[in-house]
Amino acid sequence: NASAKPPPEPSPLRKAKFFQANMRILVTGGAGFIGSHLVDRLMQNEKNEVIVVDNYFTGSKDNLKQWFGHPRFELIRHDVTEPLLIEVDQIYHLACPASPIFYKYNPVKTIKTNVIGTLNMLGLAKRVGARILLTSTSEVYGDPLIHPQDESYWGNVNPIGVRSCYDEGKRVAETLMFDYHRQHGIEIRIARIFNTYGPRMNIDDGRVVSNFIAQAIRNEPLTVQLPGTQTRSFCYVSDMVDGLIRLMEGDNTGPINIGNPGEFTMLELAENVKELINPDVQIITVENTPDDPRQRKPDITKAKSVLGWEPTIKLSDGIPLMEDDFRSRLGISRKK
Ligand code: NAD
Ligand code: UDP
Ligand code: UDP
Repeated sequence: NASAKPPPEPSPLRKAKFFQANMRILVTGGAGFIGSHLVDRLMQNEKNEVIVVDNYFTGSKDNLKQWFGHPRFELIRHDVTEPLLIEVDQIYHLACPASPIFYKYNPVKTIKTNVIGTLNMLGLAKRVGARILLTSTSEVYGDPLIHPQDESYWGNVNPIGVRSCYDEGKRVAETLMFDYHRQHGIEIRIARIFNTYGPRMNIDDGRVVSNFIAQAIRNEPLTVQLPGTQTRSFCYVSDMVDGLIRLMEGDNTGPINIGNPGEFTMLELAENVKELINPDVQIITVENTPDDPRQRKPDITKAKSVLGWEPTIKLSDGIPLMEDDFRSRLGISRKK
């Protein structure tokens, strides 16, 4: 047919399709701390196309600027409490504020994000047949009565306290994941993440490692919340990302603890930061907030046996890596 129009030039979007990826991966909360490191790792695989969805409540576009304009990368401003219609093969569902000061700021919104947000991502997974991974938390164990915590422990959580929007929100999110799995056959993965630290944490995030490092660099007193004997176990972010990807790619639904079993009191952490960053800095004690868990340490037997995973970076090596990033963002270089 001589009158037929020539085929149109491929649009920039269609041209991009020449990079046709084998796996299209959605990362909710991908502009945040852990999410942006996960995106970096996923983007290293040329077979992956990565779509980030984020409402920028605690995250920032800056964390992803290295990928702007890349044909296998897409960033969408979207709140997961609203339905989302896209086509993907895998969903890493991280969207949720993680620092107590931010999740307590608007607790009702935190619950909606955990419950309605997770419901929407499960509805999406069901519609398109995607596998979905939820980043749950060690907070599901509450103020634990067994130590260290393994995945069979049901937890000791206050249902009506100021932390409940987060703790109970994540517990319901886990329940939803298992109900979609049992009722609709959705492929699920649940990671119970323990305290994670590293570059790109919000400087004013309020979490203990970022607080102490920023304080040490600014030569302000390190604020140990009372009693100071409470413990946490800190995992460097590259180890965390490695664990999450192994969980997604493996056969086990979880829940699986992902964290570093090295356990420190907050006073010990302050001493470590002081020694590594600023030996002259003062350490002071300040009031704590309600329901602060007294001890926390993951039992990672399951991660070791099921995922062949264990952390490789110890706290004394991770803190200086984070210090470099904080110094460059604060514009304060090391003393000569
Ligand atoms: P983060 O606050 O840096 O990242 C969360 C991201 O989610 C941010 O970019 C934020 O803007 C986005 N977000 C929040 N609410 C949203 C909504 N309604 N719609 C769309 N986007 C939304 O926190 P993080 O430390 O990177 O944590 C990531 C995940 O890991 C969270 O699910 C958190 O609960 C979990 N987790 C983190 C830790 C930790 O120590 N960092 C520990 C346990 C669990
Ligand atoms: N949903 C979504 N994207 C989709 C499919 C569903 O955001 O691609 C949302 C949908 O709006 C609903 C939720 O996920 O609020 C649960 O969906 P499901 O189909 O499981 O339940 P139903 O719509 O029947 O309540
Ligand atoms: N904490 C502290 N000083 C600070 C911030 C936090 O001593 O400036 C303590 C806090 O009381 C808790 C621990 O550090 O016992 C971990 O708090 P974070 O908010 O980092 O995480 P959580 O594990 O409570 O979610």
